[in-house]
Amino acid sequence: MRLDHLFASQPRTLSFEFFPPKNDRAWYTLEDTIDHLAPLGPDFVSVTYGAGGSTRSKTREVIEHIQSKVNVTAMAHLTCVGATRDELRALLDEYAAAGIKNLLALRGDPPKGQEHFVPTDGGCAYAKDLLDLIRADGRFSSLCAAFPERHPEAPSREADWGNLVGKFQAGATGAITQCFFDVADYRQMLEWLTPRLGKTPRIIPGILPITDFNALERFCVRCGANIPVGLRQHLAPLAQNPIAVRKAGIAWTVKFCRDLLAAGAPGLHLYCLNRSTAAAEVVTALRLSGDLT
Ligand SMILES: Cc1cc2nc3c(=O)[nH]c(=O)nc-3n(C[C@H](O)[C@H](O)[C@H](O)COP(=O)(O)OP(=O)(O)OC[C@H]3O[C@@H](n4cnc5c(N)ncnc54)[C@H](O)[C@@H]3O)c2cc1C
Repeated sequence: MRLDHLFASQPRTLSFEFFPPKNDRAWYTLEDTIDHLAPLGPDFVSVTYGAGGSTRSKTREVIEHIQSKVNVTAMAHLTCVGATRDELRALLDEYAAAGIKNLLALRGDPPKGQEHFVPTDGGCAYAKDLLDLIRADGRFSSLCAAFPERHPEAPSREADWGNLVGKFQAGATGAITQCFFDVADYRQMLEWLTPRLGKTPRIIPGILPITDFNALERFCVRCGANIPVGLRQHLAPLAQNPIAVRKAGIAWTVKFCRDLLAAGAPGLHLYCLNRSTAAAEVVTALRLSGDLT
């Protein structure tokens, strides 16, 4: 199903994000994860797109597996990294042939060893350019990325959110956020965008279920997200007890999701890191309390 059609009829969605496995063992883990999460009834799932050539075809393989085995709507991530516009168009042909109807259009991060993103000659410099290319193609529904705390390269939140306005105007029917941990950031972003777009944009919070403080720190460093002092203070005293950190982290994540939904979030997108347990615990808790139907 196309996500623009789904969004037109459904005010809230639940989705999970996976990444292509690096080896056979990781592939089996992912298959297991998908089998465990599918019964929770996600409205869609998404699969990331790597910087290296070999992981790129894996995005399509994972989506083909999901579509055939569990029959859940899938969205492929796609970046501008290392591809000319002609190569991107050829990839769109491949995706269309594989039955993919939804794309998350991204600029991508610089490949390993490169400090700054350098557009490929004849390629796209920004996600907005990729959205223009996808809109001209006409076969896909597309989403984009949003950054409640601002993208790390942007001089200010407003500068970054101004560029986000451009992505919606280029045809994104919704956005998924980078992980973040303060509801106020989400609320302020929506308040800033709404008058500029003439309506509240559909921005789905990306949620990292917290299970391990070191893993949380590593993830945040990688994506440029801040861990608020309150969350740090909440988890730090438990640092010597991984079970207590996990329990407190999941409880914190459930409350965060609840607060976001109360602030008007049109659903939740869980970064599962290819594991099912934490995401399933969060979703089950929200369903039991009636916060997520
Ligand atoms: C939900 C989500 C999923 C992701 N999945 C992947 C993935 O699968 N693979 C992957 O490699 N990466 C992924 N990323 C990471 C993403 O590629 C990086 O964060 C990247 O650095 C920015 O991508 P973007 O699409 O937001 O870029 P853009 O929207 O192009 O923005 C990049 C920077 O340029 C600025 N900018 C935009 N337009 C202009 C303009 N016209 N003039 C000047 N400045 C401008 C923006 O403010 C921002 O600072 C994901 C991120 C998110 C939030």
